[in-house]
Amino acid sequence: MMTAKEIRDSFKSFFESKGHAIVPSAPMVIKDDPTLMFTNAGMNQWKDIILGTRDPEPRRRADTQKCLRVSGKHNDLEEVGHDTYHHTMFEMLGNWSFGDYFKEGAIDMAWEYLVDVLKLNPDDLYVTVFEGSPEENIPRDDEAAQYWAKHVPADHIINGNKHDNFWEMGDTGPCGPCSEIHVDSRTPEQRAASGKTGRELVNKDDPQVIEIWNLVFMQFNRKADGSLEKLSMNVIDTGMGFERLVRMMQGKHSNYDTDVFQPIIKKEEEITGLKYSTFEDSESSESSEISRNAGSSEQINIAMRVCADHLRAVAFSIADGQLPSNAKAGYVIRRILRRAVRYAYTFLGQKEAFLYKLLPTLVEEMGDAFPELKAQQQLVAKVMKEEEDSFLRTLDKGIALLDKAMVQLRKENKTELNGAEAFRLFDTYGFPLDLTELICRENGFTVNEEQFNADMQKQKDRARNAAAVENSDWVELRQGEQQFVGYDFSEYECNILRYRKVTQKKTVFYELVLDKTPFYGEMGGQVGEQGVLVSESETVEIIDAKRENNQTVHIVKQLPKDPAAPFMACVDVDKRDASAANHTATHLLDYALKQVLGDHVEQKGSFVSPDSLRFDFSHFEKMSDEQLRAVERIVNDMIRQDIPLDEHRDTPFEEAKKMGAIALFGEKYGDKVRVVRFGPSCEFCGGIHAKSTGRIGFFKIISESSVAAGVRRIEAKTGKECEELLYSLEDTMKAVKAFFNNAKDLQGVILKYIEEHDHMKKEIEQFQAQAVERSAQTLLEKGRMVNGVMVVTGVLPMTPAAAKDLAFKVRANAGGSLLCVLGTVYQEKPQLTIMVSDDLVADHKLNAGQMVREAAKLIQGGGGGQPHFAQAGGKNADGLSAALDKVIEMAKL
Ligand code: ATP
Ligand code: MG
Repeated sequence: MMTAKEIRDSFKSFFESKGHAIVPSAPMVIKDDPTLMFTNAGMNQWKDIILGTRDPEPRRRADTQKCLRVSGKHNDLEEVGHDTYHHTMFEMLGNWSFGDYFKEGAIDMAWEYLVDVLKLNPDDLYVTVFEGSPEENIPRDDEAAQYWAKHVPADHIINGNKHDNFWEMGDTGPCGPCSEIHVDSRTPEQRAASGKTGRELVNKDDPQVIEIWNLVFMQFNRKADGSLEKLSMNVIDTGMGFERLVRMMQGKHSNYDTDVFQPIIKKEEEITGLKYSTFEDSESSESSEISRNAGSSEQINIAMRVCADHLRAVAFSIADGQLPSNAKAGYVIRRILRRAVRYAYTFLGQKEAFLYKLLPTLVEEMGDAFPELKAQQQLVAKVMKEEEDSFLRTLDKGIALLDKAMVQLRKENKTELNGAEAFRLFDTYGFPLDLTELICRENGFTVNEEQFNADMQKQKDRARNAAAVENSDWVELRQGEQQFVGYDFSEYECNILRYRKVTQKKTVFYELVLDKTPFYGEMGGQVGEQGVLVSESETVEIIDAKRENNQTVHIVKQLPKDPAAPFMACVDVDKRDASAANHTATHLLDYALKQVLGDHVEQKGSFVSPDSLRFDFSHFEKMSDEQLRAVERIVNDMIRQDIPLDEHRDTPFEEAKKMGAIALFGEKYGDKVRVVRFGPSCEFCGGIHAKSTGRIGFFKIISESSVAAGVRRIEAKTGKECEELLYSLEDTMKAVKAFFNNAKDLQGVILKYIEEHDHMKKEIEQFQAQAVERSAQTLLEKGRMVNGVMVVTGVLPMTPAAAKDLAFKVRANAGGSLLCVLGTVYQEKPQLTIMVSDDLVADHKLNAGQMVREAAKLIQGGGGGQPHFAQAGGKNADGLSAALDKVIEMAKL
């Protein structure tokens, strides 16, 4: 039997033998594309080539791509674990042809690989072809059908509809028909029992008749008005689910029974002491169907699959540089992790962090094929554990709230929890509906799901409206590709190649693509540049520049009146220089941190703007003041050395690595890269840098803090911003000195003030104690005996705290039965204080708390306390003596 690794290797060597360049997987987390957060198909990294903005050579490529389908167009999250063939993260094996072979080549190669090389039984294979769409005037894909007919009998070729067999990149852009290959993997018993042919079960959600490979034939371009035009270059894009292929090759009936997942599941069994049933196990017992309402052993199975799957998604995302957080991609990762925690908590009895314990097994299994995982194991474990711990605390809090809500329901004799309440638990505390339902069910309650869903929908609609972007078609003025000239120029003559209108939240702006541009589009943490576009007759402001599909897109509020005119594109040089200084400073900072803290420091994110810089890096504890200072000294030293920029463009990747350049995990690099060196600092970088370190001027760290477990953040300023900082510090210092008459020895003078202050405070406290003692004395002397109870009342000026002291003093000095009622005033605010001796609480059932609440109404206030002592504040000091009388009256002595 072939192992997973052997199968992966065989795919690569097969396509290599067919003239394909074998390329690495792109990162799973996408950093610089506003339209996509995660890679969800092998073709994502070739989008630029397909759109014609990047060189298609080499025209044949193949790889295995890490994919994540948990958001947007492809979202399989809710299926995962419940079925046995959808994952959140999976590997997609793919081969591409950019204007080389087309349908026939793709079909022949796929068939040869599956049947001749891997020896899958052709009787079990079915293929689909696009049935055509009369209303769009697209005929059936007879071409593909005819090539398939070379290999398979007619009854294994099935017509498919637009939903399954017509692929589109998005609302607009490249698209075309596709052909899927399905495998009937049912056991002989299942076939006999169902009485259906494999053909009848294709695309019918049967867990044993599943799609493994999709061959996409891109031949059209969809325009904004919905019409189709021919694509200038035909593209083959195929994707095969690796885990599904392994399952077929290993004769299994569930992806989780293969060697891809079994080691992790074994580890789960070991930790939880529970048993996972493989397909064979459950076949030999009663149930073969996987249903959502299965008994508890089925729930254990589902939970173990969920955890094994989500472990991979979360670990690989963190290794790719995406930490769990509250927004965007980070939130998606957080939700996946929480889903796993929830299943482990509810069905596997794991009340403490659990997932991170599976990590070593995952690293053992996949660390060789994906070295980024091994390299960052410590960080990944730390982040996962902290996320798990924090969500478990939230779960506890949510359960407490739910308990309270259920008590209330019981009181009101209701059996249904309000959907809005369930939604609030979900929205505010991350408490998922199924868990709410489970807990409610256990306690005999139901949840109004309809209302919950309605609230959920409302929130989704709000989010969608806020994010809705409408793009018009590009208007082409000229043919050609853009050339970036910004490393050498800040101004350049140019023409507009194309432009389009974009509407977002009802605001209209335009995107321009220039043939030559000095503008740096936002990328790699450096913000986009601003400036102007100038022609003979007008000046248009460029408010931002973004990177999209390998080119810079310039954002303007108004289209130039004559877009075809020649222009001068001018970057705002002050802002550029300030950004460049900050960017160069981050490189020096990275270097200095490694010097001071060690080689475990990895960049985890950075943000560079004209005003400041931010640098996130892996490190496990707070940096000390000495360490921060040491880092600043190294950076400033390098600034004073005025090291010139040593830049190497178009360096082959391998050569750059040999130069010792630092690459980032989770970053996508082409075959040719740019290396930026300042003396000992050497990095892969496409950013705009200072011509020499001296131009940074000066470097100062503003703050050091924690962003997540194991990740620290430094914020810093350079150059002119530091100058401003210095001035504001100087101004503060001057003001402080002025308070102390510009004393020479400022620290000494302040210290003396503090000592004096402490001394006076002590003295005041002594005086107060004496005053309390005297007042207690006087009050007691004026007190009267009523039926054997000493009654003490008085109105005095003092703080609430002193009133409390006084009341306790009176009680201590009185010795016997006592009712003491004090009205005090402090800063014009009245305060009522009641002290009752313990015997009166016990025998007379006097309650100071109740009395104070009632009497406080007379001073327009409120308060409370215990039966023997209570206080209340108020607004109306004139009501104090009436309030005192009220208390005496209520006491009924
Ligand atoms: P399905 O209908 O099974 O969800 P799909 O139509 O979404 O598949 P494609 O988008 O064509 O699949 O992706 C290509 C291949 O990737 C599929 O043939 C399948 O083998 C695999 N695949 C797709 N989604 C997943 C997933 N969530 N987990 C594992 N493999 C997947
Ligand atoms: Mg799908």
